[in-house]
Amino acid sequence: MRTTWQGFMYRIDPNRTQQTALAVQFGHARYVYNWGLAERRAAYETTGKGLTYNQQAKRLTALKREQPWLREAHSQVLQQKLMDLNDAYQQFFDRVKKGTKPAGYPRFKRRKGDQKIRYPQGLEIVENRIKLPKVGWVKIRLHRPFEGEMKSCTVTKTKSGAYFVSILCEVEVPEVAITGPTVGIDLGLITLATFSNDEPPAPNHRFLRQSEHKLKQLQRKLARQKQNSRQWLRTKRRIAALQEHIANQRQDQQHRLSFYLTRHYGRLVFENLHIKGMLKNHRLAKSISDTAWSQFVEFCEYKGEWYGCAVERVDRFFPSTQKCHVCGVKNKDLDLSDRQWQCPNCKTVLDRDKNAAINMLLAGGG
Ligand SMILES: [Zn+2]
Repeated sequence: MRTTWQGFMYRIDPNRTQQTALAVQFGHARYVYNWGLAERRAAYETTGKGLTYNQQAKRLTALKREQPWLREAHSQVLQQKLMDLNDAYQQFFDRVKKGTKPAGYPRFKRRKGDQKIRYPQGLEIVENRIKLPKVGWVKIRLHRPFEGEMKSCTVTKTKSGAYFVSILCEVEVPEVAITGPTVGIDLGLITLATFSNDEPPAPNHRFLRQSEHKLKQLQRKLARQKQNSRQWLRTKRRIAALQEHIANQRQDQQHRLSFYLTRHYGRLVFENLHIKGMLKNHRLAKSISDTAWSQFVEFCEYKGEWYGCAVERVDRFFPSTQKCHVCGVKNKDLDLSDRQWQCPNCKTVLDRDKNAAINMLLAGGG
């Protein structure tokens, strides 16, 4: 047996009073995050050095003396925000080191985004209620039981006003041997995934496109309405709800596909997604696909741990789309809109996505 992590997400229904109490937790946590970020920036400007988590945790104690109202928030929730900030910096430094662009310097959190707090320990659950410190016993929809030992709990309020708690658990799973064939996978816009073997390509579902069309309509409607009017606010909420719906639909599809792949294959080879992003030029499509793709690869990674399937990201810069997998010649004239092309050297007719998937397989060692 070995230990791994698993997350379980549930909808919660705080009452009015609890919503107000949660708003205080969210607000104070955001205040601390933004304060921490400003401190780090200021420290860097004056000394040329940033601050560590430990330094910031000490300063937080001092800050709470100056701003006693911060004690309304659960102290671990505030510390956790400094941890999150520390992680954001760590990821930023990693991207700078790797030369990824944009490097994405940590940003100030706004009240309009998703609100999030994390309790770094398990919380009490009795029947259909969960005890959130400083908030109270909140109704939780336990649609399925969670397993393992509860390690931390994150409470989120989405832009459309729904509340969730995700519970991270440490679970014991049997050791699994990695067996099964290897497949190269090209991620795309028209087809979500194209495979290097006979596996039929996974389409990007029609319901997603329908929802996206609806989303565009609503966004146009919003643009015509008077800002902050009652109708404008209602449209805004509908947009947020639809965006969440789209995200859920996409997740569903990705869960199903990643489940299938990790059960049937022993190794999946993907392309480094940042490089992939650079090759695509359509801005909106890119921003949608970037997050969708990396989420999909993450799903494959954690499911792979359960079912015995290794996930590889080919990290080398190579033009998987333009390179002929038969003779290795690079076709610089290839237009990215061409679905098919003929290799100028060996004359093989290549399907663009399939060729890319096979290149991935080859780069991953076959
Ligand atoms: Zn060729």
